[in-house]
Amino acid sequence: MLLGVHCSISGGLHNAFCEAASLGITTFQIFTKNQRQWKEKVVAPAEASQFRNDFEDSDVKTAFSHASYLINLASNENALWLRSTEALIGEVRRCDLLGLAFIVLHPGSAKGSGEQEGIKRVVKALKDVIHATDDSSVKILLENTAGQGTSIGYKFEHLRQIMDGVDSGRICVCFDTCHAFAAGYDIRTKSGFEATIECLDRIVGLRRLMAIHLNDSKGDLGSNRDRHEHIGKGKLGIEPFRQIMKRFQHTVKVIETPKEDRMDEVNLRVLRELM
Ligand code: ZN
Ligand code: MN
Ligand code: MN
Repeated sequence: MLLGVHCSISGGLHNAFCEAASLGITTFQIFTKNQRQWKEKVVAPAEASQFRNDFEDSDVKTAFSHASYLINLASNENALWLRSTEALIGEVRRCDLLGLAFIVLHPGSAKGSGEQEGIKRVVKALKDVIHATDDSSVKILLENTAGQGTSIGYKFEHLRQIMDGVDSGRICVCFDTCHAFAAGYDIRTKSGFEATIECLDRIVGLRRLMAIHLNDSKGDLGSNRDRHEHIGKGKLGIEPFRQIMKRFQHTVKVIETPKEDRMDEVNLRVLRELM
């Protein structure tokens, strides 16, 4: 069972393995740098080798990164688009050094320029990133979004369009339960969940589904609010998580719920009991 959480890297990247061991998890997501700053981080050779050694000595099977929140490959401001593209190349390089399998990425925000123009810029940027890192096997996972503001990726069709445009096997998908629900996919019931997964399969293809973010939702169906809630405690309830734990045992799954009051342990227990 590939189940884990978003781990903290405060005090050093390798600290994620301490948290992983204490939670008994087999996978985790990290930020490889401060996700709210542009400043690039250089992974020193000693830092990389410690991370790889700790990885080897751990029960973690797959570790991966989440890209910086500042990256916007859909931006119509040239400087921001370029900076975003370069930052994502830097992220691929850090993943190479650390042995991280993939990067979860929000497709971006088109601002006033329109979705279709935004998608074109995302495609162009990702082509550049894939080309600049063609010696790498690190995959880039497009995450479905809640549809907040002018964000792209709230429809599975957007993800398909980007995948088609870039035309690389390194572009895959991460499915976030909270975002899907907030974007209008009603996964609260078994039948609703199955219909959504069928839709994801038909449009994106489940072979491209490399990770699932398990988050309940503070916001209602179609609210476009990206607000995560503890598992079973929000508007989604427990059923979609039961379906995922049954059906996606071999897919990487992490929770991204608030870390207050040792709630990771509680959420993991709830999920394990659903197996
Ligand atoms: Zn995300
Ligand atoms: Mn997510
Ligand atoms: Mn979110």
